[in-house]
Amino acid sequence: MYSDRIKSLPPYPFAAIDRAKLAAQKKGVDVVDLGVGDPDLPTPQIIIDALCEAAKNPDNHQYPSYEGKIEFRTAAADWYKETFGVDLDPESEVLALIGSKEGIAHAPLAFLNPGNLALVPDPAYPVYKTAVEFAGGVPAIMPLKRERGFLPDLDAISSDVARKSRLIFLNYPNNPTGACADVPFLKKLVDFAKDNNLIVLHDNPYSEVYFGENRPPSILEVEGARDVAVEFHSLSKTCNMTGWRVGFVVGNQDIIKGIGNVKSNIDSGNFGAVQDAGIVALKNSRGIAADMRETYKERVELLYQGLSKIGLEVEKPEATFYLWAWTGGKSKEYTRKLIDKLGIVATPGVGFGDYGEGYVRFSVTQPTERITEAVNRMEKMVAEERSL
Ligand SMILES: *Cc1c(COP(=O)(O)O)cnc(C)c1O
Repeated sequence: MYSDRIKSLPPYPFAAIDRAKLAAQKKGVDVVDLGVGDPDLPTPQIIIDALCEAAKNPDNHQYPSYEGKIEFRTAAADWYKETFGVDLDPESEVLALIGSKEGIAHAPLAFLNPGNLALVPDPAYPVYKTAVEFAGGVPAIMPLKRERGFLPDLDAISSDVARKSRLIFLNYPNNPTGACADVPFLKKLVDFAKDNNLIVLHDNPYSEVYFGENRPPSILEVEGARDVAVEFHSLSKTCNMTGWRVGFVVGNQDIIKGIGNVKSNIDSGNFGAVQDAGIVALKNSRGIAADMRETYKERVELLYQGLSKIGLEVEKPEATFYLWAWTGGKSKEYTRKLIDKLGIVATPGVGFGDYGEGYVRFSVTQPTERITEAVNRMEKMVAEERSL
């Protein structure tokens, strides 16, 4: 019944963990879920109120425009100017998306012909690889290794692969590793893309979830990036709005036009009231994101201390709400043990690709009490194992 493209999908990597979690809950175990990449913090009331008001406007009850309201695109451009100092033309350099996943999944359809290569990182958000395959392309894997700060080694990409590739996906701050890329690296990447005629698709939903002094950069801060790159941003993580499905892509106008062309043949844009609420979110994001960072920072510190104490090799993330811990063993066995013995859910690194093997991803999308509970359980287990 199913197409080859569906049949060739890898099995859902987290199915075994989901089953083990359900089984534990059935047995009455108080499960602490540090697996999900979804903020537990509520969407701020001011955004909810804006949606309720905008839902009453009859203009919002008809088909929206494909590319997004000009008011929404202007708000996104203003936000980029204020956040990164990047000037954008809202008409030609901004496109609304039904969540950034939607744009990421559709983008390769605009640029790949069957058999074209596309450079994708590993470990990574699984959507990049499947999107390339759905478009008939062939993923060329760029390993992200700890000794290189989880940045791809561009010099290690063979000239043959680079020449046959049409596009490159990247994501900094990075899910699942928590690593950041600085402007010099992004500059090198842009030069590499220009040398090899590559389209750069940079996924940047965590730019506001950072813990250092400085905000992680937009790739569009790099001189000349606009010649080859677009960047995806989303209100999902910035304003705790994962359920709302609202994001946007900005940058090179020909790339934007290509993605828009695919989309206009598939969807009919975001609900206008969600865009109106998104404008309010963007205008208030400074305060919202500052509160969010403070909350995550405290949680990250707690979990970092706990994981270090039980002997996992882990670094404090510079950004994102993930801790990427090296276990040394098979990641699925490790997460299985966590759920079966301790009632703690974490995500096996191998679910993000072969180069994630040996790692486990913990999310701090739970209140501090729950993180403390998880840490206590892990410490107790380790103490018991040591006394055997
Ligand atoms: C959460 C996340 C997104 C955002 O997805 P939305 O569709 O905007 O909710 C995109 N990329 C990565 C790597 C993510 O972790």
